[in-house]
Amino acid sequence: MLLISCPHCGPRDEIEFRCGGETHVVRPGPAEAVSEDAWADYLFMRQNPRGLHAERWLHAAGCRTWFNLLRDTVTHEIKAVYPMGHARPEVA
Ligand SMILES: [Zn+2]
Repeated sequence: MLLISCPHCGPRDEIEFRCGGETHVVRPGPAEAVSEDAWADYLFMRQNPRGLHAERWLHAAGCRTWFNLLRDTVTHEIKAVYPMGHARPEVA
């Protein structure tokens, strides 16, 4: 089980959270200028890296706040937790 450190509540068990998938996915626009392929990529295509992955998480059983984290998909180690709207931090 992951121990996730909510930026507002501190460390909590994974069971209190919901993963929202990849973060930093930018909606293309304007809508009338977006091709069907670009729209399909936006809706369905996600990275599936081996290593660091930027994800958004919701503290569903706590403060109900969304935040981002960097998790290693091999070791499940959480390298960084940062607020929504902030850039992905550089992690060695
Ligand atoms: Zn929280």
